[in-house]
Amino acid sequence: MANKASSRLQTPVDRNVKNVVLGDLLFKPWYQSIYPEDLVAKDTECLYVCRWCFRYSCDGAAFAAHTRACEHRTTPPGTKVYDNGGYAVWEVDGQGHKLFGQNLSLFAKLFLDHKTVFFDVATFLYYILTFTDPDNPDNYHVLGFFSKEKLSWDANNLACILVFPPYQHKQLGKLLMGVSYKLSGWDVEGGYIGGPEKPLSDLGQKSYNRFWAERIARYLLRDKYGDNLAEPGLLKPATLSKASRKRPAREHMTVEEIGRGTGMLTEDVITAIKSMGVVAPETSPKKRKLSRLSGDHHLNQGPTMIIRKSDVWEWAKSHNLSLDDPVREEGFVGDWSLRALSEGQSTASSED
Ligand SMILES: [Zn+2]
Repeated sequence: MANKASSRLQTPVDRNVKNVVLGDLLFKPWYQSIYPEDLVAKDTECLYVCRWCFRYSCDGAAFAAHTRACEHRTTPPGTKVYDNGGYAVWEVDGQGHKLFGQNLSLFAKLFLDHKTVFFDVATFLYYILTFTDPDNPDNYHVLGFFSKEKLSWDANNLACILVFPPYQHKQLGKLLMGVSYKLSGWDVEGGYIGGPEKPLSDLGQKSYNRFWAERIARYLLRDKYGDNLAEPGLLKPATLSKASRKRPAREHMTVEEIGRGTGMLTEDVITAIKSMGVVAPETSPKKRKLSRLSGDHHLNQGPTMIIRKSDVWEWAKSHNLSLDDPVREEGFVGDWSLRALSEGQSTASSED
């Protein structure tokens, strides 16, 4: 994942574009992209990029003319898969929208250093995140996107993710990551458990560690028999153990079980739990409480560790975790809507 801190790694000399204007927002690229040199000269002072379709021009007048006529100025390309609170995610098939896929990739490369820009866009799906102005339904902004290989031999649910610089630090990366997990269909028939393409950049790893940790914390703190118990700030661990007396005081679970409960790969569960700092080695059996993790629950093979729920609550509180997932199940539309999923493999068109 791109993150602005990494921008300092590259000196301005390496950049072929000095400033970029996306719609009416001006900001600086962090890395160089591979725009065709005959269209975007080296040391271009300002590259104008359409905020709807990502077509580009060094000529402000041509850009203004395009802006008035852009075919996507009121509706993004593709099919809407998610819509909640003004935020929507649209699936754009690179096969049917090659130019869009290429232009989006070229623009994204200005903020990504470790991913190569692929021109084989037909083999990818692009999921673009939009926000629509509640007072003006025709005014929408593309805030970021993730891409995904249509056929991933490594069960990758995401290839590349970027929230555009003006929209960062609004938790939108987590929204996109959450959507990427949902769309792998890990919790429905025919889906798979996957994760992002690796290796991740250092900052991508950091973002994912946080996302995974929150996902696991929600899983461990959620009432197995219903919805969330309460917000972390409202319920103390002591009260919790009384309130949840139906539950065993101690639960044995394997890392794989947590993975199956969260749609996460075993390796990612381990990475995330370690990053949370809530794992304690098993010491005196009398002190064991609440959740217990075991690498292998057949007898005592494999390492067994303890996770105290109180520590997870502490982690949740200190990280301002809301037990409400940022991705709302009811936000999915078309084939991914709750109704379509409960009816099994829906063949209905999800074109909105
Ligand atoms: Zn356009």
